[in-house]
Amino acid sequence: MKQIFLLLVALIALTPNAVVGEFRVGAAAVVITPPNGTPMAGYYRKRLSEGTLDELYSKAVVFERDGVKAAVVVCDILTLPRHTIESARKLIEAQTGMRGENVMIAATHSHTSPVVSGENTRDKLDGGDTEAALKFTENLPRLIAQSVVEANQKLAPARGSATAAYEDGVSFNRRFWMRDGSVSWNPPKQDKSIIRPAGPIDPEVGFLYFDTPQAKPITSVINFALHSDTTGGQKFSADYMGHLSRLLAEYKGREMLTLFALGACGNINHRDITWADNQKGVAESFRIATSLAGALNRSWGKLQPFEPAKIQVRSEIVKLPTAPINDGDIVKANEILQRLTDPKTMFTEQVKTFQVLDIAARRGQPLEVEVQVIALGKDVAFVSLPGEVFVELGLSIKQASPFKHTFIVELANGSIGYIPNKSAYPEGNYEVISARCAAGSGEMLVSSALKLLEDLYRQ
Ligand SMILES: [Zn+2]
Repeated sequence: MKQIFLLLVALIALTPNAVVGEFRVGAAAVVITPPNGTPMAGYYRKRLSEGTLDELYSKAVVFERDGVKAAVVVCDILTLPRHTIESARKLIEAQTGMRGENVMIAATHSHTSPVVSGENTRDKLDGGDTEAALKFTENLPRLIAQSVVEANQKLAPARGSATAAYEDGVSFNRRFWMRDGSVSWNPPKQDKSIIRPAGPIDPEVGFLYFDTPQAKPITSVINFALHSDTTGGQKFSADYMGHLSRLLAEYKGREMLTLFALGACGNINHRDITWADNQKGVAESFRIATSLAGALNRSWGKLQPFEPAKIQVRSEIVKLPTAPINDGDIVKANEILQRLTDPKTMFTEQVKTFQVLDIAARRGQPLEVEVQVIALGKDVAFVSLPGEVFVELGLSIKQASPFKHTFIVELANGSIGYIPNKSAYPEGNYEVISARCAAGSGEMLVSSALKLLEDLYRQ
């Protein structure tokens, strides 16, 4: 009886034309590039945009089976505050009937994208209080929702296939053990005092492909752990993931949309310290994109069909303790705030100042963050993590996950900034100085993710 009831519920919830037991996928992209003059994010200073190298998008893929829908959205944005996620989910729910909590919304971390205002004491420094930034921030949830609405309208019978490609030549752990016993961050290239990297990289390139039963391409979803800060300058660009999307479309056709879900890359960037080249600019981002496209293009033949028997979504709110600060830290932060743009103020002092002010503003309240898992059958799962996550944490989820293909999606459903692994805290330096969450927070997120993955796998 219960089964008949559930079947009826499923039938009522089905989109017109959908058939019970049928897997459907739709994908769409909406341009989100704001006008010139809008402040850009990412560098602890105000940079007003002077043009557009390539468009920024909100890209959405919607999955449907038996009345259950879930969506993954990626935006060419540095980071997305929680209020943007909440507003976008409300609009999506109102405009599609899909449950807002079934939507994962992530940032690609492009450092040539506009500032999204809110939630951070650093906003003002990057121009988050300007009219242009506030206008963009207000518009963004509507544009995100529009991408999901359009993907939802395009839902069509689909097949899914998956594989893991491999590329170990473009990403590097950016923390290094030095001869004096310290751990440095992005040390000068070819510095003789470097001993070795302080951590690993993740060379796996997650690769999902969806097409129609008639083999018409719908979308590829790619997952890789590498900071997107290769282009630089004052023109908008989606960085290497934008080029990658266009390169894959050259093989599969322009109707195939590529979504790039950013893996756990809090301590991973493209800087090869053994190479004297400065590795910055459009050519560099194109070089990285062509390398990844090569790895993916070598893997089309390795894609294995998977059965998205059931679409399941589950989330958990995790309360993370804030990093410890004392009264002296607050006094010092307020003092540095007065001479923030003084050339004598060190970068780490700026970083520490905003860390202290953000934590002080919480008055001891923990950081409440969401961990979300979207599972497609028993082969594929997406895990959202709410910040810039150290690669070690992403690797531990992937290694212990019961799913064959686990996509770690960082900077998803909000951001609390850097999330180092526990052993990095005593080593210190940039990401640790910047982290709002206390040591052990990353491991709490790993436990939550693994619990959700196990629960959904056993269903
Ligand atoms: Zn970053």
